Amino acid sequence: MCRKEESNNFSCLTKVGKSKVRNIFSVCCTFRVVKKLYKFLLNALPRPLLIRLSYIFKFFAPFLYRGSAVECPVCERSFSKFLSYGSEVAHRENVLCPYDLTLERHRLMWLYLQRETNFFTAQKLKVLHIAPEQCFLPHFKKQKNLDYITADLVSPIADLHFDLHNIPLEDQQYDVVFCNHVMEHVDDPIRCMSELQRVMKNGGWAIMQVPQDVTRDVTYEDASITSPADREKHFWQKDHVRLFGMDYPQWLERAGFTVEVFDMNEKWEPTEVESYRLMKKEKLYILKKS
Ligand SMILES: [Zn+2]
Repeated sequence: MCRKEESNNFSCLTKVGKSKVRNIFSVCCTFRVVKKLYKFLLNALPRPLLIRLSYIFKFFAPFLYRGSAVECPVCERSFSKFLSYGSEVAHRENVLCPYDLTLERHRLMWLYLQRETNFFTAQKLKVLHIAPEQCFLPHFKKQKNLDYITADLVSPIADLHFDLHNIPLEDQQYDVVFCNHVMEHVDDPIRCMSELQRVMKNGGWAIMQVPQDVTRDVTYEDASITSPADREKHFWQKDHVRLFGMDYPQWLERAGFTVEVFDMNEKWEPTEVESYRLMKKEKLYILKKS
């Protein structure tokens, strides 16, 4: 090969090399921009809208957050990390699953149902799910052992629509009731809890978690706090009307429930609690109707 050909070939190779580097560089830049945009959207969009757009996140998440540092038991996927979530007063890092948008509380309840109950294995359970979490919905709906119905005041994804203060259902209907993150929104929580207790069968059980300030002994209520900004500052979210403290189980007891406390730290390995990114101080209240 003559010197000129060699030089031409070398220059061609250099050109090919340069364009490859340029391509890789532009892919990396695009990847970084998409990742930043993705993170921004997950933090900026209100959760109901996020949930409506969840199919987009399901498409991108496996590429953007490939890894095995954290694990979501609901979608059964691992990631390099979870995303941050929460308003300024309740902001947490590394908590939001980038695939199906589960938070610590969803993963805790799911693991509890799987490991500590017969929810997925019992022969037949009649289940009422108030304000159904989108991340659970497809899983619960396809469970053949569940006679499963959802309800909400307005949500279009719910089967029934009613006000929890006056539930238009007969007494003693359900084996299991879920009603999470609702009692901090309603006018009269005891009345709503009592109504839910009424429609449960004797021997049935329920989970009704709320945002709980573990540093506060007594639930904080103040009817003069009405603006969305003040409610967010005092009660953690613009549409909350109270902030429950460690006396939350007593509210449930006043409504007629027997309350059992499930502490994940006593049952599960610390490494699991960490890799599922659960909130170590979160207690799960299991409510029984006898
Ligand atoms: Zn997930």
